[in-house]
Amino acid sequence: MKKIQMVDLQGQYQQIKPQVDEALHSVLDSAYYVGGPDVKTFQSDLETYLGVKHVIPCANGTDALQIAMMGLGLEPGDEVITVDFTFAATVEVIALLRLTPVLVDVDAATFNMDIEALKKAITPKTKAIVPVHLFGQCANMDAVMEVAKAHNLFVIEDNAQAIGADYTSADGSVKKAGTIGNIGTTSFFPSKNLGCYGDGGAIFTNDDDLAHIIRGIVNHGMYKRYYHDVVGVNSRLDSMQAAVLRIKLPLLDGYCAARLKAATFYNDAFAASDKIITPVTSSYTTHVFHQYTLRIVGGVDRDALHQHLLDNNIPNAIYYPVPLHSQKAYVDARYKEEDFKVTNELIHTVISLPIHTELDEEQLTFITNTLLEFVSK
Ligand SMILES: *Cc1c(COP(=O)(O)O)cnc(C)c1O
Repeated sequence: MKKIQMVDLQGQYQQIKPQVDEALHSVLDSAYYVGGPDVKTFQSDLETYLGVKHVIPCANGTDALQIAMMGLGLEPGDEVITVDFTFAATVEVIALLRLTPVLVDVDAATFNMDIEALKKAITPKTKAIVPVHLFGQCANMDAVMEVAKAHNLFVIEDNAQAIGADYTSADGSVKKAGTIGNIGTTSFFPSKNLGCYGDGGAIFTNDDDLAHIIRGIVNHGMYKRYYHDVVGVNSRLDSMQAAVLRIKLPLLDGYCAARLKAATFYNDAFAASDKIITPVTSSYTTHVFHQYTLRIVGGVDRDALHQHLLDNNIPNAIYYPVPLHSQKAYVDARYKEEDFKVTNELIHTVISLPIHTELDEEQLTFITNTLLEFVSK
């Protein structure tokens, strides 16, 4: 059996090596290391794929979130609501900009923003909501947009984990994840569903004025060369990364299908176990399985399972082991433990299994058998 990896970047590269190597060499020969034709072409390819008016590439997914908040003109003291159960980048940039993070609990079945908790958290100071499309499926965007409209709030979708997912609104219209709110952001970190070979990110919007503002912010606040109208940052997607992404974007739907196939294998294998809760996909979204995350229940020791799988050379991870409201950097007297019941429970029960485009049936069978054997002991 091939060695099992959490994410098999080498195997995936081998499938596209000739095209990637050629594209990288052509960037080297052109000496267009920053900017240049690959970045422009990838930007427009991604606009077409997402069906969004503007894609603004940037250096990584964390910058994308920060720049989105700068672009919306959020100011110190403004409250920004996001989830307690996500990667820290989401809350980090809120704090970094001296905005006030307001963390809310998630829904146990989908791991995404709990809409009742969102409603409860709104105050006169609230300016924006940042739903995270965690693990590869969309948050309930109809509900988020309704709350935003009622309170005149901006919506920034953190789409680092769900690029390629489709969201279907109650009116039947289908949109790509990240193109529903005022702004969407994503990451091209190597292990993400659309990963480059270094760091990369992008910001999406259908708003022409906002796109113009953001294009200046990513480039030192310049709208005319050497005239700095606003305080900006330096955040670029470089040409080598764009060249890789141009090759991988047409493969994204196939990559998502391969992840879904592995996830379906897991779901079927675990369906009969009363110790395992398999991922629940909401009716309004497709799932691109950035992570395949189980909940382990019925008295099974999750941490012992984690170790047992490692002992059998099955990589696995706890996403996430600490709620953001309990992280040293983000503790705040305003938070009450009873407002985070779900996250406080999830951190003890979740476990994420290997999920990527190169898993074969022999590996999947070994993983599911090893896990089932442990939980049925
Ligand atoms: C990966 C990730 C980010 C940050 O992306 P980087 O490119 O690593 O900066 C932000 N939010 C979420 C939910 C992520 O998973």
